[in-house]
Amino acid sequence: MISSVADVDVRGKRVLTRVDFNVPQDENGNITDDTRIRESLPTIRSIISNGGLAVLMSHLGRPKDEDKRKYSLQPIATRLTELLASDGIDVQFSADCIGSAASAMVDASEMGNVVLLENLRFYKQEEANDPEFSSALARHGDVYCNDAFGTAHRAHASTSGVPSLFASVCAGLLMQKELEYLGKALDHPARPLVSIFGGSKISGKIDVIGALLNKCDTILIGGGMMFTFLKATGLNVGSSLVEVDRIDLAAEILREAAAKNIHLVLPTDAVVATSFDNDAERKVVNVDAIESGWMGLDIGPETAQAYATEIEAAGTAVWNGPMGVFEFSNFASGTKAIADAFVCATVKGTITIVGGGDSAAAITQFGHANHVTHVSTGGGASLEFLEGKKLPGVVALDR
Ligand code: AMP
Repeated sequence: MISSVADVDVRGKRVLTRVDFNVPQDENGNITDDTRIRESLPTIRSIISNGGLAVLMSHLGRPKDEDKRKYSLQPIATRLTELLASDGIDVQFSADCIGSAASAMVDASEMGNVVLLENLRFYKQEEANDPEFSSALARHGDVYCNDAFGTAHRAHASTSGVPSLFASVCAGLLMQKELEYLGKALDHPARPLVSIFGGSKISGKIDVIGALLNKCDTILIGGGMMFTFLKATGLNVGSSLVEVDRIDLAAEILREAAAKNIHLVLPTDAVVATSFDNDAERKVVNVDAIESGWMGLDIGPETAQAYATEIEAAGTAVWNGPMGVFEFSNFASGTKAIADAFVCATVKGTITIVGGGDSAAAITQFGHANHVTHVSTGGGASLEFLEGKKLPGVVALDR
């Protein structure tokens, strides 16, 4: 059973909380999107309003020794201070995540406030899940809370080693929401359960597609990976992205889907171009008419329409990966059509879940992030969860 931070007695306690403050920044260190900071506020406010001290820890980027300062969490402390100012909550920043100065700051802090520790990845022991580093971090808390779903698939010190040292562990409100939506989609989905996969490569998603063959009613395929599937059916796909070493695997998935009576749908048309360029010459063709020298960069309008119909008729719809090269405006229509279908389906009562990473970026780009049931904060973590894998950061919370 996983407890929620809202149900744990935190009065008078230091709640050591793993958050995901891995926000994008420009070259001057300005935060370009503070969504992840704002999403942690409900958990922070819950700890404070229940009488605890929130001691926050996070990673930021992939710091190497020479560029440490660039990855400091100091700008995040400044932003967090602004966001919590109206609540009267004080944020202190500790320039180290472990050690005597950090401990002194935490110990001197009064309940009802926040201490943010410096970037965990300034120590390579974080990713190595080093026991001594875990103990040094654990000194900062009486209760452990994890609100960072996006790193829950990694057994790092802050997600795995540290919680193993606590008697009292819990999930933050954001983590709880992720587990609730993704868990329900897998275990008790409103049917039909329709999943839609895109993105560049089949290799990163083949395991989850295989696992979902046992759960889904319908699987829709788009993105670069569609061409490996189409190739597996014997079609010529021109110079489209194909993972030659995955063609047999794609054929196997198609056979398995047919044997299990799963509706696995491939595109019937595609937008093809003469080069990988937004301004390249382009046209819509049926998938059995892709000429050599042309590459598919988006699903075609007929496919987009057919997929939209499936999504709008779904009880639950799960989406991971863009339908085309949505970063190029001329090849974004397929992805936009799916984003629109997700919004329409949500209005009609479908539970709609968008996996993290590029599909989350796409739905945000089209202004629809608030118009679907749930946008996951974790790309890799949500895929591994859907695959049925046990996430170390979640296992550590289950007592
Ligand atoms: P992934 O990280 O595997 O989800 O892939 C996301 C990337 O796939 C995005 O950057 C898209 O531009 C890219 N992508 C989608 N469709 C295609 C395609 N037909 N050919 C090449 N790249 C694609």
